[in-house]
Amino acid sequence: MDNLIRDGRKTKAPSGSPYAARGACALGATDCGAWRPIVSGDMPQPDAVELTQRLVRCPSVTPEEGGALVILADILSEAGFEVHRVDRGGVANLFARWGRKGHPKTFGFNGHTDVVPTGPAGAWARPPFSGDIADGKVWGRGACDMKSGVAAFVAAAVALVTEVPPEGAVILAITGDEEGEAADGTAALLDWMAREGEAMTVCLVGEPTSPETLGDMMKIGRRGSMTAYLTATGVQGHSAYPHRAKNPVPAIALLATRLSARELDTGTEHFEPSTLAVTTIDTGNPANNVIPGVCRATVNIRFNDAHSSASLSRWLEDEAAKVAAETGVETAMRVQVSGESFLTPPGDLSSLVAEAVEAETGRVPVFSTSGGTSDARFVKDHCPVVEFGLVGRSMHKVDEHAAVEDIRGLTAIYRRILEGYFG
Ligand SMILES: [Zn+2]
Repeated sequence: MDNLIRDGRKTKAPSGSPYAARGACALGATDCGAWRPIVSGDMPQPDAVELTQRLVRCPSVTPEEGGALVILADILSEAGFEVHRVDRGGVANLFARWGRKGHPKTFGFNGHTDVVPTGPAGAWARPPFSGDIADGKVWGRGACDMKSGVAAFVAAAVALVTEVPPEGAVILAITGDEEGEAADGTAALLDWMAREGEAMTVCLVGEPTSPETLGDMMKIGRRGSMTAYLTATGVQGHSAYPHRAKNPVPAIALLATRLSARELDTGTEHFEPSTLAVTTIDTGNPANNVIPGVCRATVNIRFNDAHSSASLSRWLEDEAAKVAAETGVETAMRVQVSGESFLTPPGDLSSLVAEAVEAETGRVPVFSTSGGTSDARFVKDHCPVVEFGLVGRSMHKVDEHAAVEDIRGLTAIYRRILEGYFG
C-alpha cells in the first residue's frame, strides 16, 4: 500500500513507510484527516496477543501517545476503516469507522491505550514495557488495563469486516486520556463525533470487568463520584488563650464525623449502597502553640442512582451551614464532580453481551455497577453502553499481566458479540 488519501488529496507515501500519515499529526490539532488506503494488498489479520505485545511496548503513560495509536491507525486503515486522529489539549485520540457514516446499525467500541505510571521499574520482575510472554501471560504496564481489550476488539472487528462484511458500521473510539483527567479523551472524541455527524447505536467499553475469571462479571452502569473540598475559617490565636481565638479544627472534626455517620441509602435495585469517605483533614499547622485560622477537609462520595451530585451538594452545604451556626466558624465548599451515576437497564445490549460470554466461557456474567468510574460515564449520554473485558486483578499494579488464553477468549467473545449484533 503506497498511496493514501489524506484530507481528500492523494499522497505518495515517503519511502520506508507504507503509511504517509504516520507521525504527521501534531498534538493539539483537532483532526488530522482521514487515512484511507486506496491500494490494498494482502492483509494479514492482526493477532490479538501479538497486538497486545506491540501495544504494551509503546510507553504510553498518560498523556503520551507512545506510538500505540499509530499502530492501531495503521492496522485499521489497512483493513478499510476510515481513521481520524482527534487530538485535543495535548492528548492524542483515535476515531475509526468501517462502513457508512450514520448507518442506523452502528456498533461502537470505546477503550484507551494510555496507561498509569509504572512506579520504580526495579520493582518489576520484567521491564514494565517488555510485552514479554512467559508463563502463559503477556507482561507489562497496560497488558490488563486495557491494551489487551483494545487489541482483542481490533482483531475481532478486522476479522469480521474482512471475512463477513456486515450490513452496518463499526466505530472505534480509542482515547489516550482515560487514566488522567479524561477532559480531552473520550469527551473530545464524542464532541468531535457530534460535530461530524458520527454516532454509535450502542457501545461496548472494553475495560477489565471480570474480578476472578473471564466472564464472571460485566458492568451495566457505574456509581457516580464527586469530591467536596470543605474549608472552615475561624480566628488564629495563641493556644494558651483559646477564648481569644476561634478554632476551626473541632468544627471540621464535627462536620467530618456527622458526614461519615450518615447512611446515604441502603442500595437500589442495581446498585450497592452509596459511600462517603473523609480522605483528609489538614491545617498545615507546624506549631503546637498556635490555634490555626483555617482547617480543610476533603470528602469523596461514590453514589448510586438514588442521588445526584446536585442533591448531595445541597446536603453537604446544609450540614456545613449547621456546623458553622453551632461553632461560629465560617464554612465554604468547592465540589468536583467526576461523573454522575448511570445505568443501562438490562435489555437487548446486556443480553447480547451476556449470551456471547456464556457461549464462549460457559459462565453467566453478573450484571454489576460496582467499582470506580470509567469513560462509559461520557458515552452514556449518547447511546446505551455496557462494559465487558478481562480479569482486572493486576491492573495498575507492579507486574501487570493478562493471560494469553484470556486474550484469545475475549477476542472470541467480542467477535461473537459483533456477529450477534449484525446477525
Ligand atoms: Zn482502563
